[in-house]
Amino acid sequence: MKPTQPDSQGHYGPYGGMFVPETLMEPLNELTRVYKKLRRDPEFKKELQYYLREYVGRPTPLYRAERMGRELGTNIYLKREDLCHTGAHKINNSMGQILLAKRMGKRRIIAETGAGQHGVATATVCAMFGMECVVYMGKVDMERQALNVFRMESLGATVVPVTIGQQTLKEAVNEAMRDWVSNIRNTHYILGSALGSHPYPMMVRDFQSVIGREARKQILKAEGRLPSALIACVGGGSNAIGLFHPFIKDEGVRMVGVEAGGFGVGTGMHAARFAEDKIGILQGTKTYVLQDGDGQIALTHSISAGLDYAAVGPEHSLLRDLHRAEYSHVTDIEAVDGFDKLSQWEGILPALESSHAIAWIIKNAAQFTSDDLLVVNVSGRGDKDVQQIAEWKKERP
Ligand SMILES: *Cc1c(COP(=O)(O)O)cnc(C)c1O
Repeated sequence: MKPTQPDSQGHYGPYGGMFVPETLMEPLNELTRVYKKLRRDPEFKKELQYYLREYVGRPTPLYRAERMGRELGTNIYLKREDLCHTGAHKINNSMGQILLAKRMGKRRIIAETGAGQHGVATATVCAMFGMECVVYMGKVDMERQALNVFRMESLGATVVPVTIGQQTLKEAVNEAMRDWVSNIRNTHYILGSALGSHPYPMMVRDFQSVIGREARKQILKAEGRLPSALIACVGGGSNAIGLFHPFIKDEGVRMVGVEAGGFGVGTGMHAARFAEDKIGILQGTKTYVLQDGDGQIALTHSISAGLDYAAVGPEHSLLRDLHRAEYSHVTDIEAVDGFDKLSQWEGILPALESSHAIAWIIKNAAQFTSDDLLVVNVSGRGDKDVQQIAEWKKERP
């Protein structure tokens, strides 16, 4: 199978596209034009590689998790995105996009954030390049993620509370788009996942594909063969598509995306978009979207803020329909168990998001033997989550 490259309007089969107001079409087309030129520009590639190496800390290790493998009766490698500067994969994309903004002569950066991780990564690269940074964040999220608000402000960013609707990520995205429309001349919008209107799903995927390119080289060097399966959690889908994409043509490599099962599919309190099988349009793109009976965007729940969103990146929707990737989900309880197990087996505290991928392996270990090679993306570190997990455990009998 060919890698899934979108057409000129950003369609991945029936998904993706540019569902935005007329005023955003021209800036998005310009962004697409500039990006398509820069992605092939050796100077741009060199500059990005330099900062990824010297500042972000790439390549990240592909670590053989010996104890976890022994416990589960198979071979498991961890892609250590938790070791990136700022503690997660998000900075791979923020770094790529800020270099792009610099080339476009834009000095002001805006972003939206839910849990705050993308806001922190973007505020970080803005500090480093001396750019103005404005981050939109739902007021409810600001209260839940006060530590990340403090981080962004310490980095010199302005965090704008959004007090519309549910006061969470969805509303923050709307406000960021509104800002962008009125300040298009000097402003670039750094979107944080493989979501939204074209060209973002393609561009974010390209910037995150460094994960899969490194992992492919590293596993071939360590084992002399390709992995039998790749496993990654799926929020918007950027860490997963970043790992998967360089392996799409390798048909023997199974790809598993793990969504947030929350309290369980069927409770209405989850973010497992593929479990409900409904297609819709949300914030610029056509994709699987959680909706109620009237087609209204459904409320979602996950213990992990980074997976708690009603839509999934459009390329995942196509990979799913083509049966090239498979999607599953684990519950909050299973994810916390994944967090505990990896911490105790390997001395690595995974982010709650990444804990979903760990939990899927624990749950499905019987599918694999000592001949298999699994690569799991540890998309971030769990330090940001320890207080929440401690409180969650206190509330459970
Ligand atoms: C934001 C986040 C995610 C979810 O986003 P994707 O775009 O699906 O990767 C996963 N893990 C961590 C650590 C995150 O911060």
